[in-house]
Amino acid sequence: MASRALVIGPSEYAESSGIPGHPTILASAEMYGKVLADDGMWGPERCRVLSAKEVRTVGGVMDALHEEAAATEEADILLVVYVGHGRYWSDIPGSQVHFSVGSSYKDKPWTWLSSWYLYRAMRQARAGLKVLIADCCYSNMLPTLGGDEDGKVLPGVLGRREKGSCVFTAVKDVEAADAEGCASLPDALRECTPFSGHLLHVLRDGTTDPKDRLTIGLLREAVKLKMTEHDHNRPGMLLNDASENIPLFTNRKHRLHRDRSRVPSDVEDWIKHLMLDQDYLLDELFRNEEMVGDVVGRLSRRKDEASQRLAGHLDEQADQRFKKPNTFARYWNRVEQARRA
Ligand SMILES: [Zn+2]
Repeated sequence: MASRALVIGPSEYAESSGIPGHPTILASAEMYGKVLADDGMWGPERCRVLSAKEVRTVGGVMDALHEEAAATEEADILLVVYVGHGRYWSDIPGSQVHFSVGSSYKDKPWTWLSSWYLYRAMRQARAGLKVLIADCCYSNMLPTLGGDEDGKVLPGVLGRREKGSCVFTAVKDVEAADAEGCASLPDALRECTPFSGHLLHVLRDGTTDPKDRLTIGLLREAVKLKMTEHDHNRPGMLLNDASENIPLFTNRKHRLHRDRSRVPSDVEDWIKHLMLDQDYLLDELFRNEEMVGDVVGRLSRRKDEASQRLAGHLDEQADQRFKKPNTFARYWNRVEQARRA
């Protein structure tokens, strides 16, 4: 494995640039570096926080990204974290979100890094899973990247055409991301932006979820929950496939402090969890062949691709796990019943 994480956090701008250099940007970028270095799935040699010199120019950022992207293989993850300022100009060709670099000026779009270039470099990486975490204003507009008025999408768009890619954004339905830290967060996390602070809190301290590893789906749910509780803007997620089931980080909550009692109790509850993580407490679920049958039956009545795929996955598991004909018959009976219901 040679998974790579690249953290881009330009926090210093020219005084005449009109762009504020929030201290929360630097604090967040440094904290990503620290938290990833401490995570056994990553480690210091796999995580690169760009220096002030590197984030000063578009070239500096892109050279570093190409370097890291080139080091990945099919089995790897390429994680790019951007913390900074985002802008969206609708009056320039192929209007796309632009990210600030240290030499950007507020009203000079050409001094910003077009998200198109970032996506393109990520798309070209061999890594099987590509994740972009974007903590900036207008990150809600990232999904529109490359789309023209006829809804045509350029082939380089991450998260639409490409498999194994997702984008986790600070904002979902508003344009402005908060830069002011969240006072309810513990110690140094307070110095980060609210989105990164909450996200890093989950990565650093883990969640009470029983799983040992965090998928992007679990991470999103944990961050969304806290941000909603605190009345922050809602984070958003753009993705197109099963990549949210791939473990990305270690759950650092000690096993004793995780909530083992949180085993789903009914069909809908199981489906909700399995949608986020197709192997969620699978051994637990397969102790009850009738529940598996109900879940598969319910899913197979749904027309969407995600439900169909999950039903197929569970059915395959049932095939392997229910070796006794009677057990399999009880399972299958419930599938049929649920399908007819
Ligand atoms: Zn908060």
